[in-house]
Amino acid sequence: MPNNTHSTKHIFILGGVASSLGKGIIAASLAKLLQSRGYSVTIQKFDPYINIDPGTMNPYEHGECYVTEDGAETDLDLGHYERFLNIFTSQKNNITTGRIYDTVIKKERRGDFLGKTVQVIPHITDEIMENFSKLSDEENYDIILTEIGGCVGDIESLPFVEAVRQFKHKLPFNDCIVIYLTLVPYLKAAKELKTKPTQHAVKSLLELGVQPDILVCRSERALAGHLRKKIALFCNMDEQSVIHSQDAESIYNVPLLMLKEQLDLIALKKLALSAKESNLEQWKLFLHRLKNPTKEVTIALVGKYISLADAYKSIDESLVHAATFFACKVKLKRVLSDDITTMEDVEKQLKDVEGVIVAPGFGDRGITGKLLSIRYIREKKIPFLGICLGLQCALIEFALNVLDLEDANSTEFKQDCKNPIISILGEQKGVRNRGGTMRKGAYLCHLQKGSLASQIYSEKQSIKERHRHRFEFNGQYLPLFEKNGFKATGIYREKELVEIMELSDHPFFIGTQFHPELKSTVENPHPLFKALIKAGLSAKPEYKNIYLSKLDTPAKPEYKNIYPSKV
Ligand code: GLN
Repeated sequence: MPNNTHSTKHIFILGGVASSLGKGIIAASLAKLLQSRGYSVTIQKFDPYINIDPGTMNPYEHGECYVTEDGAETDLDLGHYERFLNIFTSQKNNITTGRIYDTVIKKERRGDFLGKTVQVIPHITDEIMENFSKLSDEENYDIILTEIGGCVGDIESLPFVEAVRQFKHKLPFNDCIVIYLTLVPYLKAAKELKTKPTQHAVKSLLELGVQPDILVCRSERALAGHLRKKIALFCNMDEQSVIHSQDAESIYNVPLLMLKEQLDLIALKKLALSAKESNLEQWKLFLHRLKNPTKEVTIALVGKYISLADAYKSIDESLVHAATFFACKVKLKRVLSDDITTMEDVEKQLKDVEGVIVAPGFGDRGITGKLLSIRYIREKKIPFLGICLGLQCALIEFALNVLDLEDANSTEFKQDCKNPIISILGEQKGVRNRGGTMRKGAYLCHLQKGSLASQIYSEKQSIKERHRHRFEFNGQYLPLFEKNGFKATGIYREKELVEIMELSDHPFFIGTQFHPELKSTVENPHPLFKALIKAGLSAKPEYKNIYLSKLDTPAKPEYKNIYPSKV
């Protein structure tokens, strides 16, 4: 049963016609607009696949696995939610079919169903509905947005759509609306936008008993008035509730495009909520800088999944946030680590970049390329940020080429290596299950005074950053590393684990066992990424002086007239 004691309003976002239409971005954009009008909002995603979470999925299956503060391995859309809204999400914000069935089966084994036959309806749908409103048990949200993954019409989505239908039916009128995202394709041969796929998609939803309240029609061209009228007529809607979502240059444009289309005002009206004044000043400032860069920096990302656009989503976005902060355009050069087998390969790939990130990852494919790249970066003094596996590789490279430690490696790649620089966490030895067995989520990290890390984090004594790894730097080697100038400047004191290492004899060479990319947002670009961009800029002679002076505080531009602040 819906728990509506706080009179939380609900907005469901479903999709039809095709996947990858950008439901997550529409959901995040609408949430941003509602938040900017002073409402407390959160977003959750329900994924119809059977995995308990995406933690065990290959990035080719699912893109990046986003880790929340509480250590949940979640869908990458949660990353968008956090980056847009500047809020934390948690395990509760991402539920899968697997998780729903797991709970229902456990309840059945406990005998909770009192001898009843356990069925999709009502038991699975009841469990889904219970989860729809779980977030409001903790906080008094005004509005919860729920994105349903997949496409209406898929077999696996059916219980979710049925749960939405029942949930909406049980709530008072005006407390719940359904937004449906569809595609209006442009047919080159006919030189026309076609509304039929949308009409059919709405019919499929109607067959399941759900009438959308708002239609968001994605198309590459402007949706003329007569087409809106036609869609409205054939989908039982008023014309104002047919919204156009045109392909945008950047995902960060979408909130303002939706503001122009009045998506938030229409939603608020249907939810019987007042339209408070919207404050999007910070967002607009960010967009202004994004669109009017005054400088440029090239950063390479060395990883093994670079051919896959979504594999390093949070890193890509963190770079955009940080560079934009300096009104700088970041040119991202994706370097496939497998392609690097010699120093000449590295030279070819990295000779004209101003900074390098070596990406996180699992397994030994591409490790040679990463080690060679790091050697080049270290010797040529190119600014470097190593993230998780990137740090581990930097430590192995240093052990091999500076400390001359024979057969230095990670036990992830060679279990019986002579010098296990990286080894498994004591507490995880003997762990057999692959799912949910890593060090995940936020841990405290104490920063060493006077270090680069401490400077980057504005002299804070401790920080909290998110993790997702099994292996760690083997502390036995730390004294030797430190003696040779590779120092631990961030430590998780409780277990004496190394979190940050930095090289003294280098302008910017820093590696983190945690994933800073998981905490960068539009409004709060991550300090480590900002520092990398700054170091990259300062590596360019033309920016040296800028770096030394006012780079941190770019002047506020005149952006006011670009977009309407009120509709
Ligand atoms: N494979 C490494 C580990 O498990 C690094 C993981 C990562 O980069 N997220 O420790």
